[in-house]
Amino acid sequence: MMDEVLRDVHAVATESLGQGSVADYIPSLAEVDPGQFGMAVAINDGSVHVVGDADVSFSVQSISKVFSLALVMAEDNEHIWTRVSREPSGNPFNSLLQLDQEAGKPRNPFINAGALVVTDQLHAQTGSATSAMRELIRNGSGNPDIDGDPAVARSERTHGNRIAAMAHLLASYDNLECPVETVLDEYFWQCSLSMTCREIALSASFLSRNGVHADGTRLLTASETKRVNAIMLTCGTYDAAGEFAYRVGLPGKSGVGGGILAVIPGRCTICVWSPALGTSGNSVAGVAALDRFTTLTGWSVF
Ligand code: GLN
Repeated sequence: MMDEVLRDVHAVATESLGQGSVADYIPSLAEVDPGQFGMAVAINDGSVHVVGDADVSFSVQSISKVFSLALVMAEDNEHIWTRVSREPSGNPFNSLLQLDQEAGKPRNPFINAGALVVTDQLHAQTGSATSAMRELIRNGSGNPDIDGDPAVARSERTHGNRIAAMAHLLASYDNLECPVETVLDEYFWQCSLSMTCREIALSASFLSRNGVHADGTRLLTASETKRVNAIMLTCGTYDAAGEFAYRVGLPGKSGVGGGILAVIPGRCTICVWSPALGTSGNSVAGVAALDRFTTLTGWSVF
């Protein structure tokens, strides 16, 4: 049944190819062929169903923000919420205005400012945000070679004046513990991670299993998992989170590499990827595919 659904979803997503445009503010992302589409569904019984370019690696970008938040919450579910809020921003993911107006406390962990704070806390907590995340995704996906892409990280660094300004603004409000340069290096490494739809869906499968990885080890409590999913639903697709909830009806987290991670609690995790983005930075064909998927299966959190 699932393979039939995915064939239908693929056909619908293909109709959207050609709409939107690849992120070009990070030059190395502008070189990606926008005609690609992949999708992987990792079901809680351990099976994985894929279609299209599900085994092609792409830049995970802000999908990594889910992994860093989960790692922080696994250790400390109190202090982080004194540093970052949990409300949708209604603003672009890289907005500086709101951060200044709200005295350096980012609206949520999934916009860039919030992710800098989460990365800072993860680095302070573990001694190396990079190592903590590498371990999580390598174990979760079963691929010991997953890593950041130095060319993408360098490209972001070279063109990262806005995010550097954001990190300095956070520091001016005493909301960074580590040095600005360290936080930026850790943040760019996470964004540059190169993974496939299959690997992302598998690594995130603890989100559909009440916090337990496929190998039976626990990362989060059931309640913490519910909270990560809730923040994905309300904030994971930025100022289009309302539209995403309306069309797809699932917790989701997008990245400007064109990937979207979605969770159906108790059932499966899904990753779709197609590089061309709409105005809010979410993959056009990816959203169309998830819309079709939840329509066909009737699986939704509502
Ligand atoms: N690396 C990107 C940035 O900092 C991540 C943004 C995204 O994927 N939405 O702008």
